[in-house]
Amino acid sequence: MRKDRLIGGALIAALIILVAVGLWKTADTRQDDRIGVQQTYRGVMGTDCTLAAVVTGDSQRPLAEKALGEAADSLREVEARMSSWLDASEISRLNRSPAGVKVPLSPQTLDVLRSALDAYEQTGGAFDVTCRPLIELWREAGKRGTPPDEEQLRQARAQSNWDLIELQEDGAVKHADTARVDLGGIAKGYAIDAAVELMGRERFHGGLVNLGGDLRCFGKPPAGERWSVDIRNPNGAKLLAQLQLPGGAVCTSGNYERFNEIGGRRYSHIIDPRSGNPVDKIVSVTVVAPTAMTADIWATALSVLGPAGMDRLPDGVEAMMLDAAGSETRRHESPGFGGFIKNAGR
Ligand code: ADP
Ligand code: MG
Repeated sequence: MRKDRLIGGALIAALIILVAVGLWKTADTRQDDRIGVQQTYRGVMGTDCTLAAVVTGDSQRPLAEKALGEAADSLREVEARMSSWLDASEISRLNRSPAGVKVPLSPQTLDVLRSALDAYEQTGGAFDVTCRPLIELWREAGKRGTPPDEEQLRQARAQSNWDLIELQEDGAVKHADTARVDLGGIAKGYAIDAAVELMGRERFHGGLVNLGGDLRCFGKPPAGERWSVDIRNPNGAKLLAQLQLPGGAVCTSGNYERFNEIGGRRYSHIIDPRSGNPVDKIVSVTVVAPTAMTADIWATALSVLGPAGMDRLPDGVEAMMLDAAGSETRRHESPGFGGFIKNAGR
């Protein structure tokens, strides 16, 4: 198992860059001496991370570099606390803990668990971080080369659910030894928000945290007023959409980026907690939201819910989805998504 992955193990990450930020494209037309200072860090939460800050003039470069370094450290700190693939993390301690014993947790981890419980309710159970035994079951199936049977699915589902995990003021208590959680569908978003918050304190013109294609930007880019974000087609180099954002987050979930191969068939790493099976119709979901945690949650939830889930989106959250349910791939958009598009489907 690679130690630097939030979502690791048997899942394979193909090297497809989904989202490119047109940050420096227009750099020669920049205004007001605004410059972008950018740093890339490898192996953060199992992916690469690009951080950027927009400052006035070269004299502010050291300030920006310091802030970017601190923001990168904060991403690693979230991973160390919340990865279920790192034995020493708080989440691994909770997962190993027997029933009836209180496991102390940091305010950060509790914050994410509370948000995950809210998301469970908001998504009608489609977003469910307690589905860890199912994730492990499908990982083992990948190693073995045969999918699990109905009885194994039923058992894994019964081992863990929100009734078996009690969140308290400063920790959590399990009501069954087998209850386990996996924050792989929310921790990245939380980490991006925390990094942005940390940077924001330094008062830059703008900034960006891009963690493997999930990103949040704020303020202004080096040139122009809006951030430009390219969403690529998973099946090729073609652009699916070019977004223009005044700030905010964009997260994408897709079964082409990380998947589990069993007997020559690809299975998504996103599980429908209701059936216990990996989702198989939704090719990709891109969500725009004010915060990265909200976008991260809904990208995973809509992968489970399909187009019908669009009706559940909270105000201010927009989504685009590729659905391969029929013989051809269809594209769905929530009503407000078009407002972010500069050039659709070229
Ligand atoms: P990525 O990390 O590729 O952006 P997602 O954000 O969609 O992918 O998160 C997928 C991860 O979330 C899975 O690898 C797993 O750890 C976890 N997960 C899978 N199914 C669910 C689900 N139904 N609800 C919550 N988390 C899930
Ligand atoms: Mg995600």
